[in-house]
Amino acid sequence: MTERTPVVIVGAGTCGLAAACALRRAGIDVRLLEREDVPGTGSRATLLWPLGLAVLRDLGVREDAERRGLPLDALHYHLAGGRTLRTTVGAENEALVLAQHATDALLEEALEAAGGRVERSAHVSGVTPGPDGVTVKVDRPGGTELIEAQWLIAADGVGSTVRRLLGIDFPGTTLPARYLAVDGAIDGDLAPGAVHYFLRPAGPMVVAPLRGGTVRMGAPVPDGTELSEATVQRVLTERGGDGLVLRRLDDITTFASQERVAATLRHGRCFLVGDAAHTHSPIGGQGLNLGLQDVANLTWKLAGVLRGAYTPDLLDTYEPERRRAAEQTVQNTHRFARMFTLGPRPARVRNAAWRGLDATGVLRRHFVPLLAGRRVAYPDVLPGGPARRARGLPAPGERPPGGAPPAGTGALRLVTRGDAALAAAGAHLAARHPGRIAHEHRASGRGFVLVRPDGFVARAGRTTADLDHVATLAAGLAPAPGGA
Ligand SMILES: Cc1cc2nc3c(=O)[nH]c(=O)nc-3n(C[C@H](O)[C@H](O)[C@H](O)COP(=O)(O)OP(=O)(O)OC[C@H]3O[C@@H](n4cnc5c(N)ncnc54)[C@H](O)[C@@H]3O)c2cc1C
Repeated sequence: MTERTPVVIVGAGTCGLAAACALRRAGIDVRLLEREDVPGTGSRATLLWPLGLAVLRDLGVREDAERRGLPLDALHYHLAGGRTLRTTVGAENEALVLAQHATDALLEEALEAAGGRVERSAHVSGVTPGPDGVTVKVDRPGGTELIEAQWLIAADGVGSTVRRLLGIDFPGTTLPARYLAVDGAIDGDLAPGAVHYFLRPAGPMVVAPLRGGTVRMGAPVPDGTELSEATVQRVLTERGGDGLVLRRLDDITTFASQERVAATLRHGRCFLVGDAAHTHSPIGGQGLNLGLQDVANLTWKLAGVLRGAYTPDLLDTYEPERRRAAEQTVQNTHRFARMFTLGPRPARVRNAAWRGLDATGVLRRHFVPLLAGRRVAYPDVLPGGPARRARGLPAPGERPPGGAPPAGTGALRLVTRGDAALAAAGAHLAARHPGRIAHEHRASGRGFVLVRPDGFVARAGRTTADLDHVATLAAGLAPAPGGA
């Protein structure tokens, strides 16, 4: 039987769940197809940086995530000779340590609360794109189903079936290092609230304490390393010291990482998000955060197009914006991974440099925001752009200082400050563009900022004349009369 649905999402990993949740909360019908019959519990992402947490906030699960996770406020670098550098991340970069399967469970609960669900044992084996929609072939234990969808989101992970079926290349390389990934309990001096990087002559190792006394440990190891308790204890002792003792082993695996970005993030009515779109070394805990940002970028646009508030042309901005973010992140994690896996002699130089960077505050001011993903800015590809940067105000494509407000209804949020004439002009604009621009006025400060639902600045200015750029943008976002 053939059914019609606005959006099909392939893959109920974190990104697929987040996308389904965002669209359902915007009132859009989605079908979320997952090939596995039960949720995965394997050892994967643990670190949620502020931009990833902002996505969880907008999906209504941040508070629960904070209850189940551990706040991360420091990075501890354990160097040779027993010396430890303790870099605090600072309030604005505070992260959360939470096992990925716990994040997934929260998102699935939120999806169900919003009236959606995961269809499990639903393996997507065919995708046929057309000018007005996509036909999706789904294999289930009971037979095959064809779904007609207006749009498709591929969130089916690094080995994406959809990417392959669409013939999208995934250029890049596989990194030589093989990593051990361990979940378990370790006795020893591992302060909670910190991720511990052991940068010792025997090799590097990273340990992240989770809530409930368990830890996640990762370390590069030679190919063919035996997966056993003895191996874990040997790595702990060699790289962490005699004080670290494995008390319980819950999960052990090895993985190799790749550095790749898909040749295109959009093919007609199909979009790639998360690991289906890009992959890189997990050092620095960026992957899931990057994927959640893909979801935030895409879903407000897609929901707005489907509810008739925005022109479908807005969807063209997904590719250049998210490509910029993916390429920057792959480059950064490449550098982190290289720094992490240096041989003994260059590692000594790195550690000496690290001490200097810590002492001068450079680690905290530059390295931590890089890890937190705060350096990512979009090219200004919105209608009417590129717009000029007003002095002293954030540029289009940057994040507003002090953090982005909650996503709200899916309209761009125009915040005017101080000047009554600006307030009146802002209110007038919002009245002309209902569903596209929402206006609020604050007495303090001066000027205005227009913030997108995904938290990036669209426009900023000082005067009512500058508001013309907002009017041009809003008009450019409006769908053509009678358009799809
Ligand atoms: C050891 C390790 C540690 C990591 N640590 C961090 C970290 O600390 N912080 C961080 O941000 N990131 C980290 N990452 C990266 C992070 O885990 C990934 O970026 C994240 O899982 C990507 O989510 P996703 O939803 O795109 O894909 P996935 O989580 O891979 O989900 C894809 C889903 O699609 C399903 N699927 C696949 N094919 C089909 C099909 N044909 N039909 C239907 N369903 C299908 C799969 O079963 C799966 O459920 C780590 C990764 C690893 C391996």
